[in-house]
Amino acid sequence: MTDNCLFCKIIAGEIPGKFIYEDDRVVVLQDIAPQAPHHYLVVPRKHIRTTLELTAEDNELVGHVYQVASRLAEKHGFAKEGFRVVNNCNEGAGQTVWHVHFHLLGGRTMTWPPG
Ligand code: 5GP
Ligand code: ZN
Repeated sequence: MTDNCLFCKIIAGEIPGKFIYEDDRVVVLQDIAPQAPHHYLVVPRKHIRTTLELTAEDNELVGHVYQVASRLAEKHGFAKEGFRVVNNCNEGAGQTVWHVHFHLLGGRTMTWPPG
C-alpha cells in the first residue's frame, strides 16, 4: 500500500470499486469511465508506478495479467470477436493513475492506429 495511490486505496477497500475478479496477485475493476461496452482494469496488487519500473521479478506477474485478461474476455463473451489489452506508460501515452494497470477493452469494433 502506497500513500495517496488511488488503486492502492481501492485495493485496500478505502475507496469503493467494482471488482469483477480478484486473486492473490491482481484485482480487476470496472473502469469508472468505460471506453467500450466492456472496459476493465487489470491491476497488480503490488504497487509499481509505471511499466518502466517493472523488473525481471515481475515477469510472471505480467504473464498472469494476460492470462486473467484472456479468461475474462472468454467468460464475458467478447474474446472471439476481438479485444484489446492496453497499458499506457507516462503522460504522453495517456497514463493518469500512477499504479501500473492494463485496460481490457472489448464489445465493439476497434480502430487502428489508436489515438
Ligand atoms: P490510465 O489513464 O492511467 O491509463 O487509466 C486510468 C483509468 O482509471 C482510466 O480509464 C480511468 O477512467 C480509470 N479511473 C480513474 N479513477 C477511477 C476510479 O476511482 N475508479 C475506477 N474504477 N477507475 C478509475
Ligand atoms: Zn498503488
